[in-house]
Amino acid sequence: MSRASARRRQVPATLAAAMLDTGRLMSETRLSPGRSGNFSARHGQGMVITPTGKSYDALSGDDLVLVDGEGRCEAGAGTPSSEWRMHLAIYRARPDCAAIVHTHSRHATALACVHRPIPAFHYMVAAFGGSHVACAPYATYGSERLAQLAVKALGPRDACLLANHGSLALGADLRAAFDRARDLEDLAAQYILALQAGRPRLLSARDMKIVLKKFRTYGVPDMEEDAG
Ligand code: 13P
Ligand code: ZN
Repeated sequence: MSRASARRRQVPATLAAAMLDTGRLMSETRLSPGRSGNFSARHGQGMVITPTGKSYDALSGDDLVLVDGEGRCEAGAGTPSSEWRMHLAIYRARPDCAAIVHTHSRHATALACVHRPIPAFHYMVAAFGGSHVACAPYATYGSERLAQLAVKALGPRDACLLANHGSLALGADLRAAFDRARDLEDLAAQYILALQAGRPRLLSARDMKIVLKKFRTYGVPDMEEDAG
């Protein structure tokens, strides 16, 4: 990581507040144990990202790190999350994404450790933008290779697992990305329970196509379709 020479820029106050709120949520919900995981929000051509190795409940505005679109970190700032390459690669590949939450949440990580993608065992899989949640092959944390594998596993979807590591969730803002990471963790727990209870019966491609279409108008008054 190189340093931009300019003096330290400020993270805009509303963005800093949203980052600290997300840090509080990560800490209160214990979604990711210890110092694991990280999160970021798009800012200009680059992003603002959590610092490496710091507990969420100890985060302050001064800890947040601005990284520009070339991967340069501002002068005088702390060290960004070791996963800054992965976050930046996702913002480059996905113009629709404005925030990313990476966790080592318990059940999603358990599935990732057996390299098990989440198939269409429940219709809510569609809430992640497709008919499955993929699992990226293993690569060392913080590496450019992991960044490229994560982009590929996400494709057009809003979440994926990272083998022997954890999960990624994308959103139109930090709250949406956090909620999606928590929903992915719940879905992973349900899938593990279903596997323990028997053989999950998967929904067909047609079933999932219908749900994906319905989700486009979900929650919009007078727009919900009956597409059964
Ligand atoms: P950082 O503390 O560097 O963000 O690393 C945590 C992590 O989850 C690495 O994948
Ligand atoms: Zn991680």
